[in-house]
Amino acid sequence: MSLLVQKYGGTSVGTVERIQAVAERVYKTARDGHQVVVVVSAMSGETNRLLSLANEISARPIPREIDVLVSTGEQVTTALLCMALAELGQEARSYTGSQAGIKTDDSHNKARITNIDTEAVMKDLQSGCVVVLAGFQGVNEAGEVTTLGRGGSDTSAVAMAAALKADECQIYTDVDGVYTTDPRVVSDARKLDRITFEEMLEMASLGSKVLQIRAVEFAGKYNVALRVLSSFTEGEGTLITLDEEDAVEQALISGIAFNRDEAQITVRGVPDTPGIAFQILGAVADANIEVDMIVQNISGDNVTDFTFTVNRIDYDRVSEIVNTVAKELGAADVSGRSDIAKISVVGVGMRSHAGIASKMFQALAKEQINILMISTSEIKISVVVDEKYLELGVRTLHDEFDLAQNSQ
Ligand code: ASP
Ligand code: MG
Repeated sequence: MSLLVQKYGGTSVGTVERIQAVAERVYKTARDGHQVVVVVSAMSGETNRLLSLANEISARPIPREIDVLVSTGEQVTTALLCMALAELGQEARSYTGSQAGIKTDDSHNKARITNIDTEAVMKDLQSGCVVVLAGFQGVNEAGEVTTLGRGGSDTSAVAMAAALKADECQIYTDVDGVYTTDPRVVSDARKLDRITFEEMLEMASLGSKVLQIRAVEFAGKYNVALRVLSSFTEGEGTLITLDEEDAVEQALISGIAFNRDEAQITVRGVPDTPGIAFQILGAVADANIEVDMIVQNISGDNVTDFTFTVNRIDYDRVSEIVNTVAKELGAADVSGRSDIAKISVVGVGMRSHAGIASKMFQALAKEQINILMISTSEIKISVVVDEKYLELGVRTLHDEFDLAQNSQ
């Protein structure tokens, strides 16, 4: 007998029929002798619907009341799923975050879990009852409802799995696992059987939005065995593991991630003196804008060039800020463009193998794709290219590293 946490996302509980299908799956798992905690999201579209009601009333709704409002979405699905389980003859009880002892800090709308008191949940599990927990919500010290940020049900599930020392945390969603790249761009992208937490973080932060990033971080930290799988089809999904040895079938590269929403700013001819990077990027950070890649290069006599990328939605604001700072610094000129994209190859195999970067650059060169920026980390190499080459670049690299279904 094992203890399993199963999380079902919004599309998996999007209609009454789908809730009944989830109940069937949970019922079978319980009947096989497992203890089951189910974590549910709100029905798909519901959280957005509630938020738009709030925005009709106020341009800046009170954060505390937003939490009271949006947490109702998950309560609806817990109750309906318990009813559906009862129809199948399976005893089940719904829990709000508060009833399940999910304690958080005070930051409404983006609260962090501080502690979970599992006593009540444990008692129900031991008596053979399925526990159905409302994802995305918790309770602060003062007893107020809090929510964990969009996509937060993943984090609820992982945190509950960690607290209960569950054997596995299974995230049921509308895709059947984590792929080598987005199948909409590369039709023969392959589902991975395994991937490491680290790789998953690199893939997730680059746009493979299968799991909330915080949930992956949490699972890595507490070593929760995490599996992504489809609630619509059968299959083993993708296991996300700590262990590099048995991950990714020993492939060098596990995936190609990409991000279309990039923009680049270049400041040329800044005096080469201490504090320049701080003055340019400090101003950007003060505006709460996240910077991604940074490249600085001495370009001539005592002057440097400075290029960095930001999310495209921040482009106009960043340009304005940087233009102001550049004037103060006496820079030669500021330029930028927002029609760029980032492509990254990701893989823990890179640690022990040289030559991945040159292989990557050669493949792109063969296709006449110009590289605008390069950055590397221990398990990732990223390039910025013209946005119009994004698809070609991703396909080229997917081929180059033999990631397709039939090449394994
Ligand atoms: N319902 C919440 C959202 O849409 C939480 C979740 O689904 O994970 O963000
Ligand atoms: Mg989700």
